[in-house]
Amino acid sequence: MTTSPARHHSAAPADLEEFGLFIDGQVVPAASGATFLSEDPYREAPWARIADAGTEDLERAVGSARRAFDGEWGACTGFERAQVLRTIGDTIRDNGDLLADLEVRDNGKLLREMRGQLESLPQYYYYFAGLADKLDGRTVPPLNPDYFAFTRREPIGVIGAITAWNSPLLLLTVKLAPLLAAGNTCVAKPSEHAPTSTLVLARLLHEAGLPAGVLNVVVGSDPMLGAALVEHPQIDKVAFTGSTATGARVSGSAGAHLKPATLELGGKSAQIVFSDADLDAAANGIVAGVFAAAGQTCMAGSRLIAHRSIFDRLVSTVVERAEAIRLGDPAQASTEMGPIANRAQYDKVLGLLEEAAAAGAKIECGGGPARGQGGLFVAPTVLTNVGPASRIVREEVFGPVLSACSFDTEQEALALANDTEFGLASAVWTKDIHRAHRLAAGLKVGVVWINSYRVVGPNMPVGGRGASGLGVENGVEVMHEYTAVKSVWVELTGGTRDPFTLGH
Ligand code: NDP
Repeated sequence: MTTSPARHHSAAPADLEEFGLFIDGQVVPAASGATFLSEDPYREAPWARIADAGTEDLERAVGSARRAFDGEWGACTGFERAQVLRTIGDTIRDNGDLLADLEVRDNGKLLREMRGQLESLPQYYYYFAGLADKLDGRTVPPLNPDYFAFTRREPIGVIGAITAWNSPLLLLTVKLAPLLAAGNTCVAKPSEHAPTSTLVLARLLHEAGLPAGVLNVVVGSDPMLGAALVEHPQIDKVAFTGSTATGARVSGSAGAHLKPATLELGGKSAQIVFSDADLDAAANGIVAGVFAAAGQTCMAGSRLIAHRSIFDRLVSTVVERAEAIRLGDPAQASTEMGPIANRAQYDKVLGLLEEAAAAGAKIECGGGPARGQGGLFVAPTVLTNVGPASRIVREEVFGPVLSACSFDTEQEALALANDTEFGLASAVWTKDIHRAHRLAAGLKVGVVWINSYRVVGPNMPVGGRGASGLGVENGVEVMHEYTAVKSVWVELTGGTRDPFTLGH
């Protein structure tokens, strides 16, 4: 791999940028006055001081969201919400550089990735603006002609949106755009590791016309803040993106409080490459799948399952490309891979690599910290000779680590791909259209790419199976996640009926 010179600057306290919570249309300090520091993972130094929310702040945020739901926002028509969503899209488009820079600082995301992301994020709001005024119910022909029956789709209420650190704006957007389109309000809780883009977005949207209380943002260093949000009696639904372990806790707590939860969790996605595939394109897709964002994506294609006849050739092509990846300052447009977003995650990735090596994995490239780099850089890594039961194959690494194994038959490839508790995504690389369709049907995942990887859009649903989650995001399907159906029966004759029978 090529590297740019490592740079480390310690931020003097005076250099720190300040960020408040966003509650009821205002940037506010925490009620306790507490703050915490956010670290720039490239410089390994604090760069921002952030208000540290506690339960009092959470109460104010939830109360504000409830008032907005019961008041001005709840009274808006779908046409009015659509207009607000279009304005939100325009505001994000106009502030793309500011929002991109915040994520580069906060979690080391590549500027070039963020620029691409900021071009696509407005599309989510435009798309859901198109759905906001189309939330119609059905008229249902009843068994008894004395009744007129119809359904209404109504917003659920106040949504608690909890997001992970790896892509805060995108993870919020896939919740916020549809939940607003449906007429809900929101209390968002980004990860303490990368909260600034969400905090600034909320302020920008309010300045652009989103009424006070419709979007509130709390963040805190106490992990109990997220748990308190889930349990809060005025939160009607939880939309969560994060690890499978935390998701299970969130699901348990939401269930105990009898509230619905959408869960977008981890993955261990497979890329299956057949011998007839365009190997150059496949190698490119494998690099995109596991080394983009330094592997810190839920959809990381972290398992390569390649036909034995092309296995060695494909692995050596991927290794060659992995070694050419330009690591360095995420703010430089030429950089292709930045650091791991925080030290805890960095230590976790290195720990898994050490264990894999000790268990006999062959390190084809990488295998540890990137040489010549400071910051929290892990070298792009390709491992072979990894057993199907090993941790590196079974667990989500959330780092730039590819585990590769070979197969002989299509059935074996499918069995290997499905041999995981996760069910988020998969790719199939082949020119045989019959086989591609067989695999697309047989893979137990929410998304399948044929001869491509990591393509997403607001109008295509994404929903993990198994340990990858519950429910969907995106597409018209997500509108069911943020609305509740109500059945209305209207008696047409003005007469009475036998009170001791079930009416129909
Ligand atoms: P975590 O599960 O640790 O945290 C996710 C969010 O939950 C954070 O905001 C966190 O706050 C909060 N949280 C922590 N504990 C609780 C709790 N008990 N109750 C409620 N909320 C809580 O995940 P990471 O932030 O480490 O993110 C990485 C994970 O996210 C990976 O597993 C990845 O696969 C997954 N992910 C899934 C995606 C998908 O769509 N399927 C997309 C992107 C990521 P805090 O950080 O402040 O403690």
